[in-house]
Amino acid sequence: MSEYPKSPLMGQMMSQPLLISSIIQHADRYFGSNEIVSRRVEGDIHRYTYRDCHKRARQMANALDALGVRIGDRVATLAWNGYRHLELYYAISGSGAVMHTINPRLHPEQIAYIVNHAEDQFLFFDMSFLPLVEAFAAHCKTTKGFIMMCDRDRMPAETRIPNLMCYEDLIAKSSDDYAWPLFDENCASSLCYTSGTTGNPKGALYSHRSTVLHSYASAMPDALNVSARDSVLPVVPMFHVNAWGLPYSVPLTGAKMVFPGPALDGKSLHELFEQEQVTFSAGVPTVWLGLLTYVGQNNLKFSSFKRTVIGGSACPPAMMKTFRNQYVIDVVHAWGMTEMSPLGTACTLQSHHMSLSDDAQQSILEKQGHAIFGVDMKIVDDMGEELPWDGKTYGNLLVKGPWIVSGYFKNEGGDVLQDGWFPTGDVATISPDGYMQITDRSKDVIKSGGEWIGSIDLENIAMGHPAVQQAACIGVFHPKWDERPLLVVVKKPGAEVSREELITFYEGKIAKWWTPDDVTFVEALPIGATGKILKNRIRDQFKEYKLPTA
Ligand code: ADP
Repeated sequence: MSEYPKSPLMGQMMSQPLLISSIIQHADRYFGSNEIVSRRVEGDIHRYTYRDCHKRARQMANALDALGVRIGDRVATLAWNGYRHLELYYAISGSGAVMHTINPRLHPEQIAYIVNHAEDQFLFFDMSFLPLVEAFAAHCKTTKGFIMMCDRDRMPAETRIPNLMCYEDLIAKSSDDYAWPLFDENCASSLCYTSGTTGNPKGALYSHRSTVLHSYASAMPDALNVSARDSVLPVVPMFHVNAWGLPYSVPLTGAKMVFPGPALDGKSLHELFEQEQVTFSAGVPTVWLGLLTYVGQNNLKFSSFKRTVIGGSACPPAMMKTFRNQYVIDVVHAWGMTEMSPLGTACTLQSHHMSLSDDAQQSILEKQGHAIFGVDMKIVDDMGEELPWDGKTYGNLLVKGPWIVSGYFKNEGGDVLQDGWFPTGDVATISPDGYMQITDRSKDVIKSGGEWIGSIDLENIAMGHPAVQQAACIGVFHPKWDERPLLVVVKKPGAEVSREELITFYEGKIAKWWTPDDVTFVEALPIGATGKILKNRIRDQFKEYKLPTA
């Protein structure tokens, strides 16, 4: 794999491949009695330890072997965050097969497309997805069997799914006598398809090496900052970009793991946070909105929750302030993407920022942050020329590093790199001291009279208004300026605000010509399979919209 020259004098360190199986081995050996707690699809709370998890992962690895799964074969999962899913993360990748996590929120036709594209040999699923699997199983051309992740007594008496097996049966009949195989660290370990908002989904194929390196880097203090003293609840789903790597970085550090299963509503989450004394969590803004609304309405507090990482889409400053001022919870704003395993940047302060005013610190923390070691980034213009790091000039954001894709699975989309850099599709500024701020996705930028208006800024300001629950800003047709911003708003329950009030709210906060030309109120915004607001859907909805300024 290495295309780099060798020295006549090579280092004399042990040659040991970086393999995912070493993480669960380490967790068992050094943190064996630390807990993994799961709210199950069955409804109850399940508890066991890293030692138990490792044992059952070895049993499952033997079961996969008996099913004929070989190194490089793809094995799919359609499951919530839970202990069985974690066992599969290690059993499948650890044995040399490729863990292919599928997003159950996708349409059955899209799932069948992905399964066939990946050529999945087996598919594991949580029992709540039985009707979903029944809807597409017949279209899976390469899948030799389906395994429902439950006890025997939960299995359906009848089903249309061919060769349906029971997870606990497979475990029960398999020995835990299994030695994790050694192989090249560049072997594929897991596969995750981008959500494919435009065109067909494309697969990011991670390797053992990229995953282990990403786990080290993402656990660092100025990234996710996970330690053996934490109780970690990943709200980010294990079916999308490996839950930001937490199923690896948490066992690696020995922290307690708490899985929420399918119950992601405010009440269930708050209960679990309290019961399991969760200290750290991670998720997209839309999930936190639900939790904060519930906690606020019921006058609740958090007794142990100290830190959360928010990413996937821009974290509104108002949300950050609520976490910090009302609940004394630190928010780390992070940015990344499926193609980056996913972590690229995280925003934390440095010692020389400590003397700054609260406001000045806050404006740094609102950015997406510093590249974590291993990731390099730059901004370029449309000709590929590098742009200055002055915190003002914005350009296309490119990245490189050992956990960033070099291309998509089966070379879908052809050569994607530009001179060895991966184009993220995001538009950003970078400050002189290396803090990156996303102004927009390039396809969401509003183009007004040849100038760009960043929609994220406009949304963040609107979200700062006490009556606004959610906001999306899109460009709509304008005869003179090509596009002008339209603000689409969901009001907080029971709150009132007028169009004029919101437009006035922008005064003094941005350049005057950035101010939205109009505001429209809706009941809800469309949310995609990864919890993000679907701007393209909103643009379609307001395609014919006539601005009052037009
Ligand atoms: P998808 O499958 O929708 O592409 P990803 O999770 O890979 O899902 O999405 C990556 C994109 O999400 C980034 O390119 C960026 O546009 C957006 N994103 C992620 N984190 C942030 C953030 N903190 N702020 C703004 N945008 C973000």
